[in-house]
Amino acid sequence: MNPTALITGSSRGIGRAIAIGLAGLGFDVVINYASQREAAGETARACVRAGQLEGRTIHAPVVQADISSGADRQRLMDAARTATGRLDLLVNNAGVAPLERADLLEATEESFDRVMNTNVRGPYFLTQLAARWMLEQDDAGLYADFPRPKIVTISSVSATMVSTNRGDYCMAKAALAMLTPLYAARLAARGILVYEIRPGIIETDMTQGVHPQYDAVIAGGTVPLRRWGRPEDVARAVGAIARDALPFTTGEVIHVDGGLHLQRL
Ligand code: NAP
Repeated sequence: MNPTALITGSSRGIGRAIAIGLAGLGFDVVINYASQREAAGETARACVRAGQLEGRTIHAPVVQADISSGADRQRLMDAARTATGRLDLLVNNAGVAPLERADLLEATEESFDRVMNTNVRGPYFLTQLAARWMLEQDDAGLYADFPRPKIVTISSVSATMVSTNRGDYCMAKAALAMLTPLYAARLAARGILVYEIRPGIIETDMTQGVHPQYDAVIAGGTVPLRRWGRPEDVARAVGAIARDALPFTTGEVIHVDGGLHLQRL
């Protein structure tokens, strides 16, 4: 039996790279999407191929669920349970940018609610469902022959960096950054490990609309390593956690941002 990972928002971008990376490590992967069913199917096929390259048979069930909805979160967990029977790793990846970047003085409550519901309410309560399931499995001795279960949340440099044209996104990622220390402390006694990965500027659909601006920012040296991040950069960090490359750690924040978070004089 393979260990199982559930990756929210894995139809595209960072989530897709994480799912493919985990499949290559021998995880069955539950692929979740909100609306792009074709893209989710393509991720699933890529995961099966990634497993085959390593000589493994990987299952990659696809589940539509809007993580901002309580009913959908429950349905996602139920579907994962039916499809794979176990959960070893939850990756809270799904997130949205504001539909329009608006100055703080023009920001709307409608955008605030959408961003908060998806980027904060969703992962907070999905983690609750996953943690309960992991504890239940631990009680049943299901992890005896497997690495300890883990929870990874993909936040953003926006948890601490200011963008005055998307305050709702920054507020959401700042709130999300508290999920990891909370759950790390709550679950440590049961050996469930909890991490945050904080990406910088990553080349995905989310950043397509601001590509020229970010090209200039990167060329100007704001990102010390002077390149765009790739979804695979984030996936490699998740992979390190998944294969227990960081023993005796929990509650850690891993910056995958080319040094963007460094304060410089
Ligand atoms: P993306 O390319 O826009 O992909 C977003 C993914 O999330 C898609 O799979 C999408 O599904 C899914 N999704 C969106 N809303 C959802 C919902 N309500 N329920 C379930 N799934 C939902 O974004 P990305 O750049 O890969 O970003 C992934 C995560 O990294 C986000 O949390 C983002 O905030 C964070 N991040 C991104 C960057 C960056 O520069 N790109 C930097 C830092 C942090 P559909 O395909 O069905 O729409």
